[in-house]
Amino acid sequence: ARQFTRPLNDLANQWNTLLSAIAGAERVFEILDEDEESKDEHGAVKLKHVEGAVRFTDVSFGYDEGSATLEAISFEAEPGEMIALVGPTGAGKTTLIQLLSRFYSPDKGTITLDGRDITTIERESLRSHMAFVLQDTFLFQGTIRENIHFGRLEATDEEVEQASKLANAHSFIMRMKDGYDKVLEANGSGISQGQKQLLAIARAILANPSILVLDEATSSIDTITEMKIQEGLERLMQGRTSFVIAHRLNTIRRADRILVLKDGRLDEQGSHEELLAHKGFYSDLYYGQLRKQSS
Ligand code: ADP
Repeated sequence: ARQFTRPLNDLANQWNTLLSAIAGAERVFEILDEDEESKDEHGAVKLKHVEGAVRFTDVSFGYDEGSATLEAISFEAEPGEMIALVGPTGAGKTTLIQLLSRFYSPDKGTITLDGRDITTIERESLRSHMAFVLQDTFLFQGTIRENIHFGRLEATDEEVEQASKLANAHSFIMRMKDGYDKVLEANGSGISQGQKQLLAIARAILANPSILVLDEATSSIDTITEMKIQEGLERLMQGRTSFVIAHRLNTIRRADRILVLKDGRLDEQGSHEELLAHKGFYSDLYYGQLRKQSS
């Protein structure tokens, strides 16, 4: 795994950069673990199998003492459910994900995974059950095969291809001159934004996590690629608990539960229909976005 270390080291300082770098990549976290994070709690355990039940109970957190970024957040995700996080920029969506992946710990309240307080789980073990598909896919200089392989280094070439097929990435890869052996520049210049996302999906499928974090792309991608991405994502999400920082109405609408964050508080939660009936902040956002789309 040596060849992976250098580019990641450069990245490890900044959460935003790092977020883009993660794709079921426990190795990224090993670096962080040593340098920047507190040690695991005494007696913390490794989890072998994770169902994916997540529960926040009265969770509050502030980056700085005396100011709360998240306040009294409580919700539940059953294994396999899709949870949409919705709300204005700065509302706390990313922070919630950072707490779940234990980059920070709550000041108050508890977060459990399959009923176990996540502070009693080794960070690396917790994160090995998670994968991230983010707006900016982290690609390093290396072949396409290596870049996908990064999701699970033990995987075989057949498994890499299988994951690529499920992700709808295989056909565009095969259309390129060197196929899976095509060398990508760092950050993937030479392939499109949409193709990068297909690679990220393939990588996450290969990682086979119980918990997924998706940050939906806001930039526009051509319709055909967009459809491929949607289909790939659906296959990826199947049977996994997913948290989607959602910008699109059709994604939000089909979520099992929508968490509406506003100024660090959970303003509302429920299904699309429930929230529309509630005629609160969500229904304002929703009709606002509908109007924007049709104008
Ligand atoms: P969202 O993802 O909904 O846009 P964030 O969780 O990124 O919201 O941010 C919530 C609030 O926390 C914002 O006011 C943001 O400026 C602040 N914040 C985010 N990250 C940090 C950080 N590392 N240190 C201090 N404040 C932060």
